[in-house]
Amino acid sequence: MKKIYGIIGDPIAHSLSPVMHDAAFKKLGLDAVYLAFRVSKDELGDAIRGAKSLGISGLNVTIPLKEKALSFVDAEEVARKIGAINTIDFSSGTPIAYNTDGIGSLRVLKETVGGIKGKKVLILGAGGAAKAISFYLDAEGAKVTIANRTKERAALLTSNLRNADYIGLDAELGEHIKDSNILINATSVGMHPHEDATLVNADMMHPELVVFDVVYNPMETKLLKEAKRAGVKKIVDGVKMLVYQGAASFRIWTKEEPPIDAMEKAVRDALISI
Ligand code: NAP
Repeated sequence: MKKIYGIIGDPIAHSLSPVMHDAAFKKLGLDAVYLAFRVSKDELGDAIRGAKSLGISGLNVTIPLKEKALSFVDAEEVARKIGAINTIDFSSGTPIAYNTDGIGSLRVLKETVGGIKGKKVLILGAGGAAKAISFYLDAEGAKVTIANRTKERAALLTSNLRNADYIGLDAELGEHIKDSNILINATSVGMHPHEDATLVNADMMHPELVVFDVVYNPMETKLLKEAKRAGVKKIVDGVKMLVYQGAASFRIWTKEEPPIDAMEKAVRDALISI
């Protein structure tokens, strides 16, 4: 019987996960389909219970449900420590949740810079994505600084890390970036339809900085354009992270090795045609 996978979130129409996972199923010849379901926070519990009853095999969870979803599932230890999930596996009968965002971002950064230990990393944002990314970087021995609009949220996040501090998005941000090796935008700033927005401009960057934007729509965000203008040599868009976190979910659900190249091509082709 055809297996059903999907993603829940709100809004959800923008998601490229269906295109990406369907390309993977096709490449491996699996009889499966991946659908997007718009689910509000109020309906989240019903949606997860309903998915189990309907025999759905696996779900991804996206904005704004990643933290709240923890209340409705058993989560493996890392996801519980992060405090957010993005993957639910229904194959054992009991829904088990995971967080693959951090795994995806770490793989991207290791490919870009090699070792993470000792690197000074400034992360913009303190939401679900920032939580997952900072958890893995902190565990790898990076010196993480969280910069967030709502300082209290940044304070809470860093209190769960080993070697991290936090700042606001004010004048001290520029000083911190000058002293950083890696800048990661883990906010939704710059995401479609607000393509002209960025929290950091070219004059705040230096050429040796690695600039990584987790936003993938558009592929080249305003932040990445500013990085180019500043002469930054290592610039990374959000597509690779999307593909690597999706690949990790795919592996959990299907126990198959995900066809990374086909998944990445499907996402980049879809973004070009939007
Ligand atoms: P979230 O939990 O809702 O967090 C949003 C973050 O953005 C918060 O830190 C929020 O600050 C900040 N923010 C939003 N609007 C802002 C503004 N106008 N000025 C300053 N800060 C602002 O969302 P999330 O799940 O972390 O996702 C964040 C982004 O990452 C989204 O664009 C999502 O698509 C992307 N993402 C990409 C991948 C990938 O694989 N490439 C994976 C996960 C997420 P406050 O705390 O002050 O509200």
